[in-house]
Amino acid sequence: MKLYCIRVGAFKLPRGFVAARCKDANVPTVMPIYTYLIKHPKGLVLVDTGQSYEMRDENTVMEEKDTVIHKLAELGYKPDDIKYLVISHMHLDHSGYMNDFPNATFIARKEELKAAWWPEACEGGYVFPTYEKTRQYKFIEPADDEDFDLFMDGSIVLIDTRGHSRGHQSVVLNLPKTGKTVLINDAAPIREVLERTLLPGTCTDNWQAIRSVRKLQHLESCGYKMIYAHDPDNLPEKNFPEYFD
Ligand SMILES: [Zn+2]
Repeated sequence: MKLYCIRVGAFKLPRGFVAARCKDANVPTVMPIYTYLIKHPKGLVLVDTGQSYEMRDENTVMEEKDTVIHKLAELGYKPDDIKYLVISHMHLDHSGYMNDFPNATFIARKEELKAAWWPEACEGGYVFPTYEKTRQYKFIEPADDEDFDLFMDGSIVLIDTRGHSRGHQSVVLNLPKTGKTVLINDAAPIREVLERTLLPGTCTDNWQAIRSVRKLQHLESCGYKMIYAHDPDNLPEKNFPEYFD
């Protein structure tokens, strides 16, 4: 099994946007956006689809060649080659090209789908056109608090880390050489969230968000490798086209 950490653009916003009360909270910072491709013997698994170039806004820092579609093409893959598409949550910088994978099986939490399709006024970050076509696509919807073992072999396990959004999930991998590795996504967008037990910059449920931070802190204390989706100061040691195995 191989893990590719793929940078698919960035956004420039004050640091506090991703971590409440962090250091330099008001300082505008270019923060990367990561998606992940996992080559598993049972098929290709993509985790998140990044920012849409077509739906970029004034905070987006990306070129057209940065999209997940282009990055997959660099590896020789097209969207139909992706068998499973894990969606950590459906904010715009994670759901950008969901429409483009009609033949994948999506795995998203039920509550996240509800939030994305009918968000409360306080729930920002959902841009309906990025997943508008997916209503008839194939979804597996794990229960909110379920650990979902994708292939029932312990290699890819989706864990509940809600709080940043209603149905946020992180991904725990068991890589042959690297060992246990966590794709955290927005439950702790930057390392400082885990170091200082901060809330992510936006939350739908603060109590659940801190519970998720503590769960991730526990995994790190057990020796799991942590990979951050938006931390400019803690990038994965191996970036696409390099990979973890
Ligand atoms: Zn988010």
